[in-house]
Amino acid sequence: MSKVALITGATRGIGKQIAITLAKQGYNIALNYRKENEELSNTKQEIENQNVKCLCVKGDVSNFEECENFVKETINEFGNIDVLVNNAGITKDMLLMRMKKEDFQDVIDVNLVGTFNVTKNVIPYMTKARKGRIINISSVVGVSGNAGQTNYAASKAGIIGFTKSLAKEVASRNILVNAVAPGFIQTDMTDVLKDEVKDEIAKSIPLKRMGNAEDVANVVKFLASDDSSYITGQVINIDGGMLM
Ligand code: NAP
Repeated sequence: MSKVALITGATRGIGKQIAITLAKQGYNIALNYRKENEELSNTKQEIENQNVKCLCVKGDVSNFEECENFVKETINEFGNIDVLVNNAGITKDMLLMRMKKEDFQDVIDVNLVGTFNVTKNVIPYMTKARKGRIINISSVVGVSGNAGQTNYAASKAGIIGFTKSLAKEVASRNILVNAVAPGFIQTDMTDVLKDEVKDEIAKSIPLKRMGNAEDVANVVKFLASDDSSYITGQVINIDGGMLM
């Protein structure tokens, strides 16, 4: 039976690339999305071009019931979930002095509570199967902090604590839980920055470039594979050397 990977927020950016990379490894893909649009159908098509199945499952990760529903849909279609990638994430940047309470709350609700909501619904199936991989997408700013991102950095630091705690809870069930912490990756999320700012950031990175979605997806592929079967509770930075 083919392995199954559920990836949240996978219509574009890093999530899309993770879905395509795992599809190339032969995984059937459950692709979580919020809005039906052209991007979704293009991504589905790209995945199916790899000769695997792609089930699109609708749901906002910050809504527990919607997560419960799309996890059930995935199980009904495929029977199991071998790999969960908690990728869905947002930013609402502002200095704390001017940040609205709702903008703090929204980012925590999607990035951190969303990771809880999906994982909580997937864990019973992995526990029953006595195997599974959970890969959470954190960020270097969850480790280093970043001015203008108290909400985002707190959510991403929270994901690291969540990852390590859950890894300890479920290791005896052969469920491995790890996080990756990307640096500056070229996606819509970082496209909002001015070109001069991007150039400055690239110059400050030891490898002298922003990362791309493939840089992240390849590490996720490793963490999903048998090659990483003795790794759990870890955070792997994918940042061109930004944090050492
Ligand atoms: P992106 O291009 O903005 O894509 C974000 C994805 O998350 C979209 O598919 C979006 O769906 C989805 N999403 C947002 N809120 C959601 C919700 N409530 N429920 C379900 N899906 C939701 O961002 P990205 O750069 O690929 O980021 C992916 C992950 O990597 C995020 O967790 C981000 O924090 C993390 N990360 C990114 C960078 C970077 O430099 N890009 C660095 C470190 C970490 P819609 O299309 O419906 O909006």
